[in-house]
Amino acid sequence: MAIRKIITEPNKLLREISLPVENVGKKEQQLMDDMLDTMYDAPGIGLAAVQIGVPLRVIVMDISWRNEEGIKEPLYFVNPEITVKTKNLSTYEEGCLSVPDQYAEIDRPEECEINFLDYNGKKSTLNAKGLLATCIQHEMDHLEGILFIDHLSNMKRNMIVKKLIKTRKQSKKERIVA
Ligand code: ZN
Repeated sequence: MAIRKIITEPNKLLREISLPVENVGKKEQQLMDDMLDTMYDAPGIGLAAVQIGVPLRVIVMDISWRNEEGIKEPLYFVNPEITVKTKNLSTYEEGCLSVPDQYAEIDRPEECEINFLDYNGKKSTLNAKGLLATCIQHEMDHLEGILFIDHLSNMKRNMIVKKLIKTRKQSKKERIVA
């Protein structure tokens, strides 16, 4: 298990369409273990493989562990597909480990059903609503090279990207001085 580096916007890799996983074996499970370690360390509640530079259709999530009880309930999704979406929308303030320190309210279908392979490669179905539904849709966007800021107006998105570039330049400068 290892903590991997999370890539941040702007980065061309984040815009790639991730490829399906052919087989869930030891290597893929190792990837999921690393992703989970990286997500807990960040800390975050969801991570797509492309965010650590691996453009495969793999997602890990845990929407429980940051609650008061702090109990870890990891979820693994390989090759997830949304089969049903409700017309009703819900709104959450979203952030993203690849878009550090930026948040915005995003509307997404309130409920959805997902088909996927689990950690052991077993076919599974999940009915998600509320935060779980929003989080899985956010992560599935990553598999298509889409970030939550792409749901905003061009003006808002450009403003956020400019901020990210500025912050990145500043942190590089500090590294040289140190
Ligand atoms: Zn994200």
